[in-house]
Amino acid sequence: QANSIATIEAEIKARNVELLHLQFVDLEGILKHVTVTAEQLDAVVDGKIMFDGSSIKGFSPINKSDLYLQPDLRTFAVLPWSVEEGYSEARFLCSVKNPDGTDFEGDPRYVLKKTVARAAEKGYSINVGPELEFFLFETDEEGRPTQQTQDFAGYFEPSPHDNGEKVRLEIYRALKQMGFTIEASHHEVARGQHEINFKYADVLSAADLAVTYKWVVKTVAKKFGLHATFMPKPIAGENGNGMHTNISLFNLEKQENAFYDEGDVQQLSETAYQFIAGLLTNVKSFVAVTNPLVNSYKRLVPGYEAPCYIAWSASNRSALIRIPAMRGPATRVEIRCPDPSSNPYLAFAIIASAGLDGVEKELTAPDSFDEDIFSMSAEELFLKEIQNLPTSLEFAVMEFEAGEIGRKTFGDHVFNEYVDAKKEELDSFRTTVHGWELENYHTKF
Ligand code: GLU
Ligand code: MG
Ligand code: MG
Repeated sequence: QANSIATIEAEIKARNVELLHLQFVDLEGILKHVTVTAEQLDAVVDGKIMFDGSSIKGFSPINKSDLYLQPDLRTFAVLPWSVEEGYSEARFLCSVKNPDGTDFEGDPRYVLKKTVARAAEKGYSINVGPELEFFLFETDEEGRPTQQTQDFAGYFEPSPHDNGEKVRLEIYRALKQMGFTIEASHHEVARGQHEINFKYADVLSAADLAVTYKWVVKTVAKKFGLHATFMPKPIAGENGNGMHTNISLFNLEKQENAFYDEGDVQQLSETAYQFIAGLLTNVKSFVAVTNPLVNSYKRLVPGYEAPCYIAWSASNRSALIRIPAMRGPATRVEIRCPDPSSNPYLAFAIIASAGLDGVEKELTAPDSFDEDIFSMSAEELFLKEIQNLPTSLEFAVMEFEAGEIGRKTFGDHVFNEYVDAKKEELDSFRTTVHGWELENYHTKF
């Protein structure tokens, strides 16, 4: 996995790499890059490439705007679609540094690295396997996205109903060439909806992979004249896009999965129960990160396989946290609320941090729920003390601001920028007159 400078140099020569893209993400997880020539590899590796941080959302003020990019050599990849007349392009994902070489506190990748370090202090590494769903939409003559899905197929449906097979194949090939281990791919429940699964990795790599995956999916779709979207709920009345996040702790000393305990009824360890308890305790204050858009909350409604109640279960897909059946080294918890519009670095950092919080405080997990929560009445939910997830971004941001986990995980810079950005977004939404209002009020009143 770890690329040395020598192997990268050899690859650049062998593949005739002409350009290097130095990539990083902004506060919202949106991919950015600056391109240099391959001759500048030495300067690139030495972290000498500079950019203007004041033009990046959530980064630095204009008076302290010079920032540097330090590539992570593990992320070197030749772009499968760049090969043209014998030349190719490659990219690195980078960490962002201050001019004095220290880590830039506004870099989402740095936020995740801090969480990795905190886990390591406790004797753990973190493994994550995210499942990102997306829709394919047709575009119009000008190449703009339409509301027309590329097909009308449903869950696991093959062609001739599934029109996405060829696109998924191309995405699979591109991802594979960029170093992904692909496990499965299928048509999802909603028309035009798809999912391609890749193998879990250490949490930092998993976030790098998630960001890369979104870029590759969008790029390949565009080659087919299609628009790929990771928007959480593009069509009312259909399933939305989730980013189920499978997560586990690995005990560094014992070199084993820290969530597995053969002797327990559910074969889960004390650490696993504490981690689950940490997630449940903190979830209200972190959904503003895992579900960051106004639109995210249109997905978190009953009946579409997305969670809306705060409960966990060994198997139940209506619960917020599910424990997939595998045990032993594959033991993990699956948290089902995150959606793929979230910034993977921030989302994985705050999920891991919430779980670790439970382990540090030795919290006790409530009983698991194995009934279908969607079919329970309001009275049953009340009696069983099952709470709702925040039902809007506004509530979620209030919980995020009031909770401890956000500032603790993000540090002041990212926490403050995040709250400000979300409030601005909410304000813009609140003061806009939407189609629904015109439809329902314009003629009636
Ligand atoms: N699309 C569903 C969601 O919004 C998840 C479907 C599944 O179980 O994969 O989370
Ligand atoms: Mg799915
Ligand atoms: Mg899943």
